[in-house]
Amino acid sequence: MSFVQIQCTRCKVMFRDRAMRLQDGYSRQCPSCEVVLFFAEDSMHPFVKRAMRNARKVRKEQREAEAVRRAAPEPRLARSRSFAGRTQSAERED
Ligand SMILES: [Zn+2]
Repeated sequence: MSFVQIQCTRCKVMFRDRAMRLQDGYSRQCPSCEVVLFFAEDSMHPFVKRAMRNARKVRKEQREAEAVRRAAPEPRLARSRSFAGRTQSAERED
């Protein structure tokens, strides 16, 4: 799960939220001063703008990583199966 840094527009505390949630129209409370922050694409506040820009970037990177995974599936399954086999035979020897 990917997180992005958000800075509260009131008390300036830094906290993190999931990039997937941080989209136009999202709102959440600051964990420190409990002010409700609104995240809009047309927000004029630099902290909100920065958080949304970071969230967009993270989501884009996630999409690209997923596309790569789907296009070229790693032989991870085969490898974990051979590990499991080795573990099983070791157990049988005991
Ligand atoms: Zn705050």
